[in-house]
Amino acid sequence: MGLHKITVCGGGNGAQALMPIAAHNLGCPVDMYAPLGDEAQRLRAGVEAHGGLEAKGAVQARARPHRISADPAEVIPGSEVVALVLPAFAHEATLRQIAPYLERDAWVGAIPARGGFDYCAAPILQEEGRQDVAIFGLQTLPWACRIEEYGRQVHVLGVKKTVAAASRPAALVGQIAPLMEQMMGLSIGAAGSLLALTLANTGQLIHPGIMFGLFARWDGTPLDQAPLFYQGLDAEGAELLAGLSDDVQAIRARLDGTLDLSAVQPLLEWLLRAYGEAIADPSTLHSAFVSNSAYAGLKAPVREVAPGQLIPDFSARYLTEDVPFGLAASRAIAHLAGVETPAMDQVIAWAGGRLGRDYLGRDAGEARIPQNYGLETLEQLIAFTMERG
Ligand code: NAD
Repeated sequence: MGLHKITVCGGGNGAQALMPIAAHNLGCPVDMYAPLGDEAQRLRAGVEAHGGLEAKGAVQARARPHRISADPAEVIPGSEVVALVLPAFAHEATLRQIAPYLERDAWVGAIPARGGFDYCAAPILQEEGRQDVAIFGLQTLPWACRIEEYGRQVHVLGVKKTVAAASRPAALVGQIAPLMEQMMGLSIGAAGSLLALTLANTGQLIHPGIMFGLFARWDGTPLDQAPLFYQGLDAEGAELLAGLSDDVQAIRARLDGTLDLSAVQPLLEWLLRAYGEAIADPSTLHSAFVSNSAYAGLKAPVREVAPGQLIPDFSARYLTEDVPFGLAASRAIAHLAGVETPAMDQVIAWAGGRLGRDYLGRDAGEARIPQNYGLETLEQLIAFTMERG
């Protein structure tokens, strides 16, 4: 399908990677909406100085954004696809800013969707009377990427082989998945619904699960170096990840037959599909993590508190995004389905303790869970998920 124009929302790592990759793959103009601080100005200055944005490393593409603006009225109209490449806590505000300017029958979505993107996006579009706009999400950002020079170059460290997409209305996934496949330049599978994608979000298991494995027993003594994040996983940590994956599979088992949850795979199965031959020893969950070359060298988030003295950075997205916009969303679905989630409960409670938040009680209002959007029974949740729009 030939597109006339798309817009990427965001000015961070993922947005600066997607812009040239999408322009290269789609061959159409790509605008950027970057309203945070002076990012639009800095992006424009970088692009002026260097002629465009460049993704280098595991994926290579170079293109000049068509327009860069902090004003949605300048970039959102005329876009057939609007992709939010942002941390999940920025989704809601960004959707409110762009909703009035969305083209008729446009697609708006999040890469990655994280958990419960549909609960926040659908009411905003409805308030604007924009039921013509369809929603999409991708299971994860397909690239590990870091900005090398702002407004000039992004280093793509690794690429996943395949990522799932879902839509609302759910039945339209057959339209958006091939379009995403063309845009991202990799295999995109079709998930049955955005609820399936919420459960299939593997970052929600891997990131808080590994933080727990590495630091639950940390006694406050400063570290002299940052541990490896993925490859520092030990057998006990892998067991916890298996427990989190089992919790998700228990939710899937309860809802299978009511919803298509075939995209919700056990963690080891997903790793092997997503990383393929990058994994040297696929025999166990533990070996699949520590022998995955795409994870090599990546360190745990730490902060320096004195020269050479490091402490774990519990404010990193691995907890602040992946718990309220990930694990808590899946756990809330489990609650509505009457499914026990012992490993999730343990990790959410530990992360909440570290963040001063009780996501299972007092601070549940801060989590993107269906109950906060008026979906208070399993029947309501399923009816919302399968609405035809
Ligand atoms: P990032 O840290 O580079 O994104 C920060 C950017 O988000 C800011 O520069 C700004 O443009 C935007 N932003 C933040 N707060 C905002 C607000 N309140 N309003 C408007 N814009 C705001 O993030 P990233 O690395 O591009 O990641 C984007 C998403 O992809 C996140 O969910 C992240 O967890 C996920 N992810 C990233 C990677 C990676 O390698 N970069 C890998 C997997 C998943």
